[in-house]
Amino acid sequence: MRFSKLRLNGFKSFVDPTDLVIADGLTGVVGPNGCGKSNLLEALRWVMGENRPTAMRGGGMEDVIFAGASTRPARNFAEVALLLDNSERLAPSGFNDNDNLEIVRRITRDAGSAYKVNTKDVRARDVQMLFADASTGAHSPALVRQGQISELINAKPKSRRRILEEAAGISGLYQRRHEAELK
Ligand code: ATP
Ligand code: MG
Repeated sequence: MRFSKLRLNGFKSFVDPTDLVIADGLTGVVGPNGCGKSNLLEALRWVMGENRPTAMRGGGMEDVIFAGASTRPARNFAEVALLLDNSERLAPSGFNDNDNLEIVRRITRDAGSAYKVNTKDVRARDVQMLFADASTGAHSPALVRQGQISELINAKPKSRRRILEEAAGISGLYQRRHEAELK
């Protein structure tokens, strides 16, 4: 699965609909302090199912919604869509009947988050599972937050092990075992 496009609407500083095309190879995001570079990475993590407000640098999940500026009123919802190229059909079963996958997460004030995959309503869990096996996802070591390297250096062995397990791609197995135990 390859990320091909990220679409933001009302997410943090991206109040107007914004498309970010993710081309093959390396993508760099360059800009002055405060222009929204970290917000882009947070949008990516959020649409993949991130549910910890702290990971989004906010106090509550609704803090991702555009909060207003001197010239613009606040918005009532935020939406992020992630387009995946699945032409190699590597998505987990249940998601693998299409060349393109579009994952959409939308949060509305007082109504929480809703997720869709290719316009079909799904649970947060389904989206998290979709990424867990691919070693991507909200908690993936592939997404390194600002300041995270020093956190890693100072981490306790147990949390460091979790990061290594993610990197080895086995955390999806743990999550599936946990789901199976709950059933
Ligand atoms: P740096 O180079 O300093 O790391 P950056 O490009 O990563 O900067 P971000 O941290 O992504 O910048 O963006 C910060 C900006 O986003 C701030 O101006 C902040 O006010 C704005 N912002 C964050 N959340 C919201 C929100 N909910 N509504 C409106 N603006 C927001
Ligand atoms: Mg930043």
